[in-house]
Amino acid sequence: MQPIVEVTVAAVGLVIPAAGLGERLGVGMPKALFAVGGESLLVHAVRAGTASGVVTSVVVAAPMGQAASVHSMIERELPAGAALRVVDGGATRQASVRAALAELPADVRVVLVHDAARCLAPAALFADVAAAVAGGDDAVVPGLGVVDTLKEVGPLGEVIATPDRSRLRAVQTPQGFTREILERAHHEALRRGDNDVSDDAGLVERIGCPVRVIPGHAEAFKVTRPLDVELAEAVLTSRRGTVEESP
Ligand code: C5P
Repeated sequence: MQPIVEVTVAAVGLVIPAAGLGERLGVGMPKALFAVGGESLLVHAVRAGTASGVVTSVVVAAPMGQAASVHSMIERELPAGAALRVVDGGATRQASVRAALAELPADVRVVLVHDAARCLAPAALFADVAAAVAGGDDAVVPGLGVVDTLKEVGPLGEVIATPDRSRLRAVQTPQGFTREILERAHHEALRRGDNDVSDDAGLVERIGCPVRVIPGHAEAFKVTRPLDVELAEAVLTSRRGTVEESP
């Protein structure tokens, strides 16, 4: 498969945290294993990442005790020559990413971390993020402008501040890093006692490393609540329609 964007890096590892319980979705199973359009969120996510043409190995953090079944679910999705490892995830997203990072093959120099829950992120977004890291940025995240006005509030709901919306971005995954920076950020977080930071870029910021935001994509939304499932089904139906219509 031809890469969408030429990336001159030896090896790109894709780390997929997929161990969340999905309590807000309320489907009675780990969210990554829930199906939209006939396939699990995890399969969609792996397909998109590998379709970018830039990924040479994949490490998945699976729901506790389900590593073997997850491995057989996704091994057929990988292109020939790509390595696959599946590990048990941890109690937090951060712990799941840390467990997966420990299993990256030695040759990997660029790491893309992608939530299984952002299952419809387009392949080109993976290629764009990897290309930005290959181009010299240590940490790159896709993000979109926010449409709502956001308020910072206190414990009783009292408004503390209204940040200028034009300066805010809602960040997504895949987030891309040089391996050295990402490993250092996770190591330092553990040393400080941080164990539940919601994105990897947040950990990298805390070690003083600059993070760059590049344009994200509306279809990289996170499947979190029941309405997101309806949106995901609609996007997949629309994509299928586009494929069927094309000559
Ligand atoms: O809970 P949230 O939607 O923020 O999770 C984002 C991603 O992190 C999901 O793909 C989820 O499966 C993963 N996760 C994980 N381990 C956890 C919690 C969440 O791999 N303990």
